[in-house]
Amino acid sequence: MTRQVDRMVLLAASIEQAVAWKGEHRERARFAAGGTDLLLQTRSGKLKPEVFIRLPAVSARVVVDGATLVLPALATLADLAAHPLILKHVPVLAQAMTQIGSPQIRNVATLAGNLCNASPAADSAPVLLVYDASVVLTSVSGRRELPLDQLFLGPGKTALAQDELLLEVRIPLPPDGEAAFFRKFGPRGANVISSASFAARVKLSGTVVERAFLAAGSVGPRPLRLKNTEKSLAGVDVASLAVRPVSASAQGEAPGDKTLPDAVLSALGKDISPITDVRGSGWYKGQVIERCMQWLADRLGGSEQ
Ligand SMILES: Cc1cc2nc3c(=O)[nH]c(=O)nc-3n(C[C@H](O)[C@H](O)[C@H](O)COP(=O)(O)OP(=O)(O)OC[C@H]3O[C@@H](n4cnc5c(N)ncnc54)[C@H](O)[C@@H]3O)c2cc1C
Repeated sequence: MTRQVDRMVLLAASIEQAVAWKGEHRERARFAAGGTDLLLQTRSGKLKPEVFIRLPAVSARVVVDGATLVLPALATLADLAAHPLILKHVPVLAQAMTQIGSPQIRNVATLAGNLCNASPAADSAPVLLVYDASVVLTSVSGRRELPLDQLFLGPGKTALAQDELLLEVRIPLPPDGEAAFFRKFGPRGANVISSASFAARVKLSGTVVERAFLAAGSVGPRPLRLKNTEKSLAGVDVASLAVRPVSASAQGEAPGDKTLPDAVLSALGKDISPITDVRGSGWYKGQVIERCMQWLADRLGGSEQ
């Protein structure tokens, strides 16, 4: 016997209308942007919205406002990833967005949905965290801006109030001369939810780290800034993070194996506490992030092979 489920779908003609309806229906309602997360979670019974508020399509009108890059969060990942201002100022964000799902997913999925779904594996999050991005939230009571780091409370949980909609993502324009990287890992090469992901933004003075901003996904209950590890890298010569010498094989270590200084490893241990889940073992995820740090050192030191 099939069970009758009463659900209402409201098609919002504008953001204002969507926000007004959310204010009316509150926890009974969910915004539907691209629907790529929401529909699967509703079908599996994880979410049980009685009202879907279908959000209007928004074009990727990215602008520079003073010293801030402003992204319309309801634009699709495909449109944002191709935007010239994103490619100019934060190309690594475009790189991360083009690794989310497949072209079909990216053509409907939005940046807002990726963030509001609050998955620890959300691939846009680590990059936005290293850029100290903030989000603009709107409701019938007005607007507020929140550092992205404060948006994620845990798996599937955000700091949004019941009637709030995520409208914009704001990124302070990065200074010249920084290097930025993003890597994601999973059981397949494409169209895969990250078992672990890593983003870095680094300014070197010669070969010495002047400042580093690091973040990781899928290694904790939410996407994380690695603040202890960032501090441990300040003032470190990237050469000291380099390839273990061939003579190390005499001590039973494989030539070419790499190591990280104890201070960096211990800081990393404070920052991440990966658990074993469907995406991989806690041990594996920890190893991936360690390797990412070594890979980062090689990229910065120019010794990558
Ligand atoms: C096959 C497949 C592959 C995928 N691969 C990846 C991947 O590689 N990496 C990755 O990170 N994700 C991946 N995803 C997850 C998903 O596609 C992304 O998280 C996507 O960005 C979600 O955006 P959406 O617009 O579809 O969100 P929706 O499903 O519409 O919404 C997601 C959640 O956010 C809420 N929401 C949406 N917009 C707003 C808003 N403006 N304000 C407040 N709340 C809002 C919704 O109510 C819902 O709870 C994949 C999904 C599928 C089905």
